Amino acid sequence: MNNINMTLYGLVFIILLTFIYFKKEKIHYVENDVYSLLIISSFLGCILELISFICVSNGATENDMLYILSIKLLFSNFLLWISLFTLYFVVITLNKDDKTSKKIILYSLLSLVLLALFVSLLPIDFKKTTNGLLLPMGLSVNVIYFLCSICIVMIVLLIFFNFKKLKNKKYWPLFIILISFSFMIVIQNIYPDILLVNPTAVLITFIMYFTIENPDIKMIQQLNIARDQADKANRAKTEFLSNMSHEIRTPLNAIVGFSNLLLEDDEVPEKSKDEVRDIVMASDNLLEIVNGILDISKIESNKIEIVNEEYNFKKVTQELITLAKGRIGEKPLEFRTNIDETIPAVLCGDSQRIKQICVNILTNAIKYTKEGWIEFKVSHIEKDGICRLIISVEDTGIGIKEANINKLFNKFERLDMRDNTTIEGTGLGLAITKKLVDLMGGKIIVQSIYGKGSKFTISLDQKIVMNPTIKVEEEIPKNHAETIKVANQKVLIVDDNKINLKVAERLLESYGIESESVESGEECLNKIKGGNSYNLILMDDMMPKMSGTEAFHELEKIPGFNTPVIALTANALTGEKEKYLAAGFNDYLAKPINKEELNRIINTYLNHE
Ligand code: ADP
Repeated sequence: MNNINMTLYGLVFIILLTFIYFKKEKIHYVENDVYSLLIISSFLGCILELISFICVSNGATENDMLYILSIKLLFSNFLLWISLFTLYFVVITLNKDDKTSKKIILYSLLSLVLLALFVSLLPIDFKKTTNGLLLPMGLSVNVIYFLCSICIVMIVLLIFFNFKKLKNKKYWPLFIILISFSFMIVIQNIYPDILLVNPTAVLITFIMYFTIENPDIKMIQQLNIARDQADKANRAKTEFLSNMSHEIRTPLNAIVGFSNLLLEDDEVPEKSKDEVRDIVMASDNLLEIVNGILDISKIESNKIEIVNEEYNFKKVTQELITLAKGRIGEKPLEFRTNIDETIPAVLCGDSQRIKQICVNILTNAIKYTKEGWIEFKVSHIEKDGICRLIISVEDTGIGIKEANINKLFNKFERLDMRDNTTIEGTGLGLAITKKLVDLMGGKIIVQSIYGKGSKFTISLDQKIVMNPTIKVEEEIPKNHAETIKVANQKVLIVDDNKINLKVAERLLESYGIESESVESGEECLNKIKGGNSYNLILMDDMMPKMSGTEAFHELEKIPGFNTPVIALTANALTGEKEKYLAAGFNDYLAKPINKEELNRIINTYLNHE
């Protein structure tokens, strides 16, 4: 009676499972097909077992045709079930996209059904047990046991050869299932009257649903795979862009470097200098485009981090004013500044990003204003230790049509292109600005009257630093634009690119600095180990065999070595500077070399007049 109860429970469960599984929306995998057949086989098993029980309870003998048929089919069905279970292992270890794997499965299924039918035709005997049950025996049963053993050996071998793959794919419940299945076979052999085979098959089918075959779990797994693939593609894109930026910056360094040198050369006629100035301007634009594309791609892949540090607010505004004045140049524009003097001296926030935001809107105001004035205003509101900066840039420029205001922050969106064709730009500046402001939890608003002018206002909350660790006075920038003269100082330049070595040599020469060049990290090490001494080393990073960073670490190991080493590199993504400083470099100089930055380095590390 207990046996029939188990079968009935099994039947109810399997009917429920069939209903849930086939009704549920799922991603289609080949193993799902095999699992569907496993469910059907479990269902058939319950029905056949039930028929055989009914026959026995109605007093069936070993000659009863219906009983013999139901038992034969029950055993054949079990053979089918365990073969499908083996096939499931085969499928999950095969490459799913492979068309041949689908063919293999189809042929295996056909052969299995034929085999099961063949086995059911073999003769069967029965043995009466002490409790009156009829136990099937004979050739048919022996063949089935033999084939089942082969299946189990196959499964074990599949697990053995694909252990890593199965473990990584979270198929571990199958291991537990297999162990319990083997355990069941042992019990079945010791106590033949319990008839555990079919209930175990149902139980396993059931457990599989709640562990590895659940459509919801599979859907989540698929989503995870899709997300991983998207992340991978994004990483590849960022890597490609950063390599491209490096490749563009390297030749640009020669263009900008030599152009700047030509501008300072008294022998170059004024007419040619005008053309050189155009080369510098075009290179600056190209650099801005490369930087913009890199920034937007970093923002989109969530790679931009806001680094909150103490900074001197006055220093930031002064740098911005100097920069804006420089960009206005000869343009007939009045530059008005209105900086609130009561803004706390030291704030905590990402000053580099704040500068980038302000540079973008100041540059736009300068670009899109032919005449009149531009006002750069910063005011603030203080509350609970927070300083809300209100930064605005107003201009008397071309203005923006009302209908276009909403499009302003879309990337690559440039407005009124018919009128503005002569103004250089990529349409990335404001998209980056908006994303940065959002990342910092601030707000940006635009007011504009077409033909009259525009006003961009940004509000950003910054923490007030009461006991600053930075020295406020020293933070005020020196004027780095002035030409410095240096005497009796020797600099070693390390770069595998000959043209870039020449650029650096010529630039240093213009300061009166003596320089020596080597083309690899090894040569640099040999120079230092050979007793040569320098006041400064400019070190490129991306070099074959030994990178600049590796060479720098080797230099550090040399006893008594204390020459400042500057990373001079075309790896100029935001965050790269911090990476080089963290590696121990004294400072960082991006390629193409910016004259003001070079002035700053020389000011800081070399003795000058
Ligand atoms: P771009 O590189 O084209 O300047 P931005 O994203 O910085 O890209 O600006 C997008 C567009 O917004 C510009 O092409 C321009 O049409 C408009 N714009 C931005 N700032 C101003 C301004 N101060 N005055 C007028 N139009 C502006």
